[in-house]
Formats: sequence, C-alpha cells, structure tokens
Amino acid sequence: MEDFYILDTTLRDGEQTPGVDFTMEEKLEIATMLDKAGVGVIEVGTPAMGQEEIQIIKKINDLGLKCELITWNRLSKSDIDSSIKTGIKNVHIGVPVSDIHIYNKLKKSREWIIETLKELVTYALDKGCKVSVGAEDASRADLDFLIEFYKTAESLGVCRVRYADTVGALDPFTVYENIKIIRSEINIDIDFHGHNDFGMATANALAACRAGAKYISATVNGIGERAGNTSLEEIVASLKYIGKYKTNFDMKQIPVLSKYVEKASGIKLSKNKPLVGEAVFSHESGIHVDGLLKDRRTYEFIDPTEIGRESEFVLGKTSGKASVKNAMEKLGMKLDDDKISKMLEKVRKGESLEKKKEPLKKLKYKVVGIFSGEIKLPFIFP
Ligand SMILES: [Zn+2]
Repeated sequence: MEDFYILDTTLRDGEQTPGVDFTMEEKLEIATMLDKAGVGVIEVGTPAMGQEEIQIIKKINDLGLKCELITWNRLSKSDIDSSIKTGIKNVHIGVPVSDIHIYNKLKKSREWIIETLKELVTYALDKGCKVSVGAEDASRADLDFLIEFYKTAESLGVCRVRYADTVGALDPFTVYENIKIIRSEINIDIDFHGHNDFGMATANALAACRAGAKYISATVNGIGERAGNTSLEEIVASLKYIGKYKTNFDMKQIPVLSKYVEKASGIKLSKNKPLVGEAVFSHESGIHVDGLLKDRRTYEFIDPTEIGRESEFVLGKTSGKASVKNAMEKLGMKLDDDKISKMLEKVRKGESLEKKKEPLKKLKYKVVGIFSGEIKLPFIFP
C-alpha cells in the first residue's frame, strides 16, 4: 500500500499546452515510461476529440500496462459513448462547479449540474464503466455546493472525485483547509488537480496530500495550460523526501522521462528547473564546493544519484582553492598551496576573459559523482 498515487495527465492536460501535439509513437512511449516509473493512473486523452484520438487510446490500451487507464469526458452522453469505443471502460467526467463556469460558460444552473450529473453517471455505470468525477474550478466554487456535488457523486457509486484548481487560484493553506473539510464529508478517494499560475502547484498538491487526498494529478515537467500543471517529478520527490510519504515510484526514471517529454513537447526546460534542470546539481562557489567535499549533505538535500542525476563542479569566477585542489587531485596531480593559489587566479581570470568570447563551457570540469572521479579537462590546465 502506497501513501499516494500519481494520476498522470501529460497525455491529456499536458497536450492541451498551446503548440504541443504528441505523435502516436510519442504517446505510446510516454505511457510506457510512466507505467514503468510507477504512476497509479494515466489519463490517456479525450475520446470525444475524434477517431484519431480513439485509435491512439486503443493502442495505449493494447500495451497491457500495469497502471489504471482513464479517459476524460465532458458531461455528455456522446462523450461517454466515444470513450467506450476505446475499449477502456474507465471514464472520468469533468463537471464545472463554480458559478462562473455554470452560469457564464454553460448558461445553466446549479440544479441542472446536479441533475445532469445523476443522469450521466447512471448512464456510464449502466454501460458497465467505472466512473470518477471531477469538479472543474472547484477552487472558486461555493464550498457547500461543492460538498453537495461530491456527496451526490459518492451516492451514485463513483470511485473517486477530483478537486480541480483549474486556474491555479489557491495557496497551500486554503487547499489544506478545503480538502480537510471535503475529506470529512465523503468516504471515497480524492484526487487533487492543481495548476501553477502562481508557482504553487507543487506546494498545493503537497498540502492536498497532507489533508487526505490520495491521488495527485500531475504532468511530466509540469506542462499544461498557461503556467502548467503540478510537475510530476517535483511532487513525487517532495512527497517522498520532504513529506516522508511511502511510494513505489522509481525515482531513477525521472531524468529519462523528463528528457523524453521535453523533446516530444518541444518545451525546453530552464536550467534551474527543480530536480531536472541541467544546472540544479552544479556547484561553483568555493564555499559550497569546500563543504560538499567534506560532506555532500552540506549543500545538497538529496543525493542526486537517488533520482538518476549526478553532481557536477564547475570552475569559475566564484571558485575557491578546494575546487582547484580537488580537480587537480582527480587528475592525479598533487600541488602545493602556492601552486593552487596561482592556478585559482588563472581560473578566475580565465573565466572573466573567456566570458566575453563565449566558451564559458571550456572552464567546466565534471566530477561524475562527487567521490567517484572522471574529470573533463578544462582548457586552462596544461
Ligand atoms: Zn487542468
């Protein structure tokens, strides 16, 4: 039994990122990688989009993955009929629940939502489907109405409900309070679906989990509408390493999954993207390198090899003697203090001179695993 499950929606909400359009091969590969990493559920797509989407989802279903697969549907019978054509009889029905969505987007009423929910869930259950229900824009909905909505869904026999912070409007404190209240009102699993409009999607998901949400919706690299969704890698690592939650998720799959989705989505990761950015385990400053060489934990909270990454030391303007000494020792050269100081001067000067001409890269040396060895020679060393 795991403490939480990831409900990955890279193939559904992630693909809704403007400009992202995965090919069938890419979707099959992403689904396979997600399953291998150990997600609990994959939201595979929206069958109502048409025949092509249905065919792709069928192929994903044919992969015979271990994890649960669900399709995304609007509050419509024809959507559910399209889903059934995929062979996956596990439907998620997304239902707008805030007044902004009910009255201004749908031009309907709260009563209509409850009645149609009853009708549609019953329809899907009668067709032999497993059903989960999502509350779209739950974060801006009236809490009493939201609870009525969830209780209705529970009484109809759905297996799980989603709390969607559709526009990323919440902070972790409110998420915690709201989920705690909902948790005390219903007895089925809650899935938290967050967006990152204020940079709080990961913190919000962590708060939701602490308040009793068992499922966390996420996408690889956090791709998704606007500022994106909760990042799969960020939330899974935060829950494990900060929250101390039990999970069978294979952390070592994170870099390869992230790289693949970066390429397939065309959305470049920033260098300092937590956990997966190119530079997040690079160290240059003299004080930090000196500390790391004495005890890695001084400046790294987790051992990067835990998540399939490696530490890297970079020589540059802020380097100190410990960096140079370590680099030279790795190269098999023992230098006295004076020589190291001279070399450090060169490193610092070299960097500032070279910076102007571009090849900053040349100054880097890489230690694969801080204690293991292997160095790439910087040009500055003879
Ligand atoms: Zn969403």
